[in-house]
Amino acid sequence: MTAPGTERELREAIVRVAQALDRAGFCPSKSGNISARLGDGLLITPSGQPYAEMQPEDIVRLTLDGKPDGGRRRPSSEWPFHTAIYRARVDARAIVHTHSLKATALSCARRSIPAFHYMIAFCGGPDIRCAEYATFGTQALAENAVRALDGRKAVLLANHGVIALGASLDGAHAIAMEVENLAGQYLALLAARLDPVILDAEEMERVAAKFADYGKAG
Ligand code: 13P
Ligand code: ZN
Repeated sequence: MTAPGTERELREAIVRVAQALDRAGFCPSKSGNISARLGDGLLITPSGQPYAEMQPEDIVRLTLDGKPDGGRRRPSSEWPFHTAIYRARVDARAIVHTHSLKATALSCARRSIPAFHYMIAFCGGPDIRCAEYATFGTQALAENAVRALDGRKAVLLANHGVIALGASLDGAHAIAMEVENLAGQYLALLAARLDPVILDAEEMERVAAKFADYGKAG
């Protein structure tokens, strides 16, 4: 998929990713939200609107300090963490937040996911941390998420769900999918009462270095 160029294309791409996540069951009861940088600000999904009916015009434009910039909808209630992540992380160009089943189950036990599989490095670091709990839509949640995302592209939010970020919308979507996949594998290990063998820091650095140019044109 080529990267969206115009604002219209970016709005369409956000709707496409939101509907794909919804069809995959990652957003029960219209949970989750998605954003992407646009110029000095961002585009974000509207609050509480079912994905199946969402139109590109429903996507809300915001400044980086969270002020709506025109449009007919209210922004996602999680605009504080979206804007805080963009302010803290120059590498973040898009953010996907889900309540996907298995990752959310782990978040309710406040369990971080250790390096039990090399694909953990795809999520940016040697583990996926679980951020401290705070009420949804608050500045406290934004601060906890930014802290736990340090050096990572994904985080679990305690008793809530997942945040994934990427250099593109498709990149953030891919990480949100992989977090759910890894959470399922980790839960299967825990359910079988098996002790995962954790990969050491040196091996995870080796894997991260390989990911730096994995999948690029040959
Ligand atoms: P919004 O519909 O306001 O984006 O909220 C959904 C959600 O997941 C809150 O954490
Ligand atoms: Zn949520």
